[in-house]
Amino acid sequence: MRLQRLEEVLDANLELVRRGLVLHTFGNASAVSREEKLVVIKPSGVSYDEMKPANLVVTDLDGKIVEGELNPSSGLPTHLVLYRAFPNIGGVAHTHSEYATAWAQACRSIPCFGTTHADYFHGPIPVTSVMKDEEIASDYEKNTGQAIVQAFEHVNHAAIPAVLVANHGPFTWGPTPKAAAHNAVILESVARMAYFTLQINQRVEPIGRELHAKHYLRKHGSNAYYGQTRKGN
Ligand SMILES: [Zn+2]
Repeated sequence: MRLQRLEEVLDANLELVRRGLVLHTFGNASAVSREEKLVVIKPSGVSYDEMKPANLVVTDLDGKIVEGELNPSSGLPTHLVLYRAFPNIGGVAHTHSEYATAWAQACRSIPCFGTTHADYFHGPIPVTSVMKDEEIASDYEKNTGQAIVQAFEHVNHAAIPAVLVANHGPFTWGPTPKAAAHNAVILESVARMAYFTLQINQRVEPIGRELHAKHYLRKHGSNAYYGQTRKGN
């Protein structure tokens, strides 16, 4: 595994900490190399202050360790399910960030109340079903991944790169580990704002389809025009 990819994954993990999304060691970010059929993830239980690129763990798509001395993060099987089910993603992040986790614990999807949400997520942030006892008793982490995949049966994972696992917390993804971590940061902000919005007005409605589409589509897709996209600038 190239050092650059290890550094990218380390940086995505540290970004979650820098942004205050990770309490203690409750969080992890990973990347997949589709060509090499390898995944890089944070090691289990190592303090972030001491984490070096060489401490990261490289596994195959079945979770077998290929490089690294340490055990991978216990969340690895969830990430592996997502990499299989969502073939175009390159990175996954998981945190217990407070506001997104509060929505997950309340088993409520996050409605789109404004354009910050609409800029990043083309619809409400789905929440998974509550996992059954037998899904928790064995292969818990893998079944967590299955619950996420199920929540996206009728939802486009590329247009809504985030989910709330019921009673647990958020997972986000993107084309790179950096994008996955960035989406985790935005999700926490959106979750926080949605919470306050409902405090101020309990009868507030989600924004309309037109405004939502306007904001999402000006940043994403073939007709995007937001930012510096003109050639020659
Ligand atoms: Zn967790």
